[in-house]
Amino acid sequence: MAKKKAAKKKPAAKKVVKKATKKAAKKAGPIFPVMALIGIGLIGSSIARVARQEKLVGRIQVATRRKETAATARKLKIADDVGTDMAKAVKNADFVVLCTPVGANAEVMATIAPYLKPGAIISDVGSVKQAVIRDIAPRLPKGMHLVPAHPVAGTEHSGPEAGFAELFRGRWCIITPTPETDRAAVAKVAEFWARCGSDVEEMSADHHDKILAITSHLPHLIAYTIVGTATDLEDSIKSEVIKFAAGGFRDFTRIAASDPTMWRDVFLNNREGVLEMLQRLQEDLTVLQRAIRWGEGDKLFDLFTRTRAVRRALIDAKQA
Ligand code: NAP
Repeated sequence: MAKKKAAKKKPAAKKVVKKATKKAAKKAGPIFPVMALIGIGLIGSSIARVARQEKLVGRIQVATRRKETAATARKLKIADDVGTDMAKAVKNADFVVLCTPVGANAEVMATIAPYLKPGAIISDVGSVKQAVIRDIAPRLPKGMHLVPAHPVAGTEHSGPEAGFAELFRGRWCIITPTPETDRAAVAKVAEFWARCGSDVEEMSADHHDKILAITSHLPHLIAYTIVGTATDLEDSIKSEVIKFAAGGFRDFTRIAASDPTMWRDVFLNNREGVLEMLQRLQEDLTVLQRAIRWGEGDKLFDLFTRTRAVRRALIDAKQA
């Protein structure tokens, strides 16, 4: 009985966020006077581009780790100020978004914490969420608001030149506030992402990490493994693999070309979620292996029929 009640409550909470963001998205004018982006790669530079295009903020200040990246971003003219001084970038910012690999969050937060403006909203774009909260929340000074977010959109490319304003259009942005998070801050961040063109959904960080383990992290691990296996083959076979790369392998190589730093950090920071899904996959692979060995065609046919239906459902949900 108690279980039923709890299950009913969840979707209602999600609806409130969606309704609020839709209403807010209609309002014109900047949401934040000053936004600071720490990191200006694919995601950071896409945020800068869409924020400027849609007039979501009054001013954009960027800090990145290397001078070379700062110079590239400066040339692209996607922000008002670009440098390597993180303290300077966040000092008067109302909205600070960490767009760095998740493994860098703790160090970045330690650097910027003393310079944050009182009342500022701190957010991120990391592909895992429990570890982000673990690394950022304890370093957040009193009076600041942490609103973790994950735009579920990306490509296999990196760096400031790889970004584009339409990256988030029609894609999900998942917000994972903690019970302590200020609701007004959540509403503002939700409005920001809605006006970037995203569909905004709210859930717990724990739930996020489980879902993303199977929808994103495991597929990347499989792609890295398959392409790795192919590159370990004897030279004579390896050259033929590249020459005759058909649809399946070609698609895997695209995913396996994703940024090594980002993905190393994802696996190290969603260890539990990924290991659980990997265990299930290994069990299912064993079942398939047995079916192939014993010529159980009906088992293979049944599975492939079910998976085909998943693809169709995905197309219907406009997520293909
Ligand atoms: P990216 O293109 O490689 O850019 C990374 C940025 O972070 C660069 O500005 C880089 O600075 C900076 N950086 C890297 N290591 C750092 C460190 N140790 N300390 C401080 N700054 C550091 O990466 P991205 O694809 O935009 O990914 C950024 C975040 O978005 C990640 O947390 C990722 O999980 C998340 N995300 C990515 C995707 C995707 O498909 N790529 C999708 C959704 C979410 P320098 O260049 O100056 O060294």
